[in-house]
Amino acid sequence: MQNTEEIWRLVDAKRADFEDLSDRVWHMPELAYTETRSCAEHTAMLRAQGFRVTEQVAGIPTAVMGEAGEGGPVIAILGEYDALPGLSQEAGVAEPRPLPGPGFGHGCGHNLLGAASLLAATAVKDWLAANGLPGRVCYYGCPAEEGGAAKGFMVRDGAFRDVDIAISWHPAAFAAVQEAVSLANTRIDFSFTGRASHAAAAPHLGRSALDAVELMNVGVNYMREHMPSDARIHYAYLDAGGVAPNVVQPTAKVRYLIRARDLVELRRLIERVRRIADGAALMTETKVAAKVVSGVSNLLGNLPLEKAMQANLERLGPPPFDEADRARAAEFQATLTEEDIAASWRRIGLPMRKGVSLCDVVVPLEVRGAPMVGSTDVGDVSWVVPTVQARGATHAIGTPGHSWQLTAQGMLPAAHKGMVHVAKVMAGTAVDCLRDPALVEAAKAELATRTAGCPYEPVLSPEVQPPFDMSKTAA
Ligand SMILES: [Zn+2]
Repeated sequence: MQNTEEIWRLVDAKRADFEDLSDRVWHMPELAYTETRSCAEHTAMLRAQGFRVTEQVAGIPTAVMGEAGEGGPVIAILGEYDALPGLSQEAGVAEPRPLPGPGFGHGCGHNLLGAASLLAATAVKDWLAANGLPGRVCYYGCPAEEGGAAKGFMVRDGAFRDVDIAISWHPAAFAAVQEAVSLANTRIDFSFTGRASHAAAAPHLGRSALDAVELMNVGVNYMREHMPSDARIHYAYLDAGGVAPNVVQPTAKVRYLIRARDLVELRRLIERVRRIADGAALMTETKVAAKVVSGVSNLLGNLPLEKAMQANLERLGPPPFDEADRARAAEFQATLTEEDIAASWRRIGLPMRKGVSLCDVVVPLEVRGAPMVGSTDVGDVSWVVPTVQARGATHAIGTPGHSWQLTAQGMLPAAHKGMVHVAKVMAGTAVDCLRDPALVEAAKAELATRTAGCPYEPVLSPEVQPPFDMSKTAA
């Protein structure tokens, strides 16, 4: 990789500070909507770099925005910093070894995600200043990607109203442009209320809320055969009505996570699940109340931006990993199954090459892998602003998402190199947009075409509030 372009030199000039930022955030893993310290670290860095800072974006305590430059166009670079429960792990160690404490860990690499995005935004700010050009760059520190849909609430609140282009990335095994395939989803809590009673002495007087949840689940499980094959439904018991089998359970609560290919399919499926819940309440003579907790839209791709990002990737080449990096990554691969590793190649759409532990290629744009069946709250941004995302190569090929292996690799030299590499990809794409008004226009025209006849209607209706207490049960 050669720093043939000014913007890449500007990224490199500040890389050390941002690698440190990523490491500090790794050391303070915080769950969705409780990222107080991580957000404070990002806010302090924004101030230190001279951004104009807006705290509590959309009324969310752990969302922050920093902007720099004057005039247009406005380029947003999105970062994240939330961690996950149950993924605590000692850094750099290739065997499961949780750290003492509450058990949280950066098992999705969001310590890198936030720091690289802020590094890219800083380099773009410095580039605008050095060249005396009009244009603004905004860094959005977005909390609660893991199930909290913060970006959806930020979109609903108009946080991206002035933005022309949005750019983001995610840690991955390969360096590539992110394929715009993700599912729309929603989380809905169904609370059933019945009547308590002695389960042996007076069973006929009780009405079991737990029975209602079980019948609802049976109904939904039968429905699976008759729903689109790319839709997904999962559920978890939040309240099973208590620990006493001799009391008819008067309350029970189940959280449903419903995913579908797009917003139209999602709405249809939600309606069917709601009807099944009503049916379960009818059968058990209980009452049911449904509360939407969160929701995200599917991602919309943007070909002009994807081509621009791909050109940056190809000029840069793959991340500059060395033999020591590959040897460390191989240690982590040794903890994975053949199937884990094969799945990683399949997902990116490349033929598997044995013995390759770290990305050594730039994935061509036309290569399409197995579609991702997860969801991301970047989806909502992509419906209102032309959006493009990179995959940054930061860990061993085959490392599963949300795994101790991913947490463990989050501070290795390879993670830092991958993070700086993807910051260059994002900053280069931003500079392309600032230099070329025609690219911005083409990106906007593509978004208009994709949403024609299907305007953005957020999954989050106006009365739904951010689930600030969603992490309490995990804490
Ligand atoms: Zn993630």
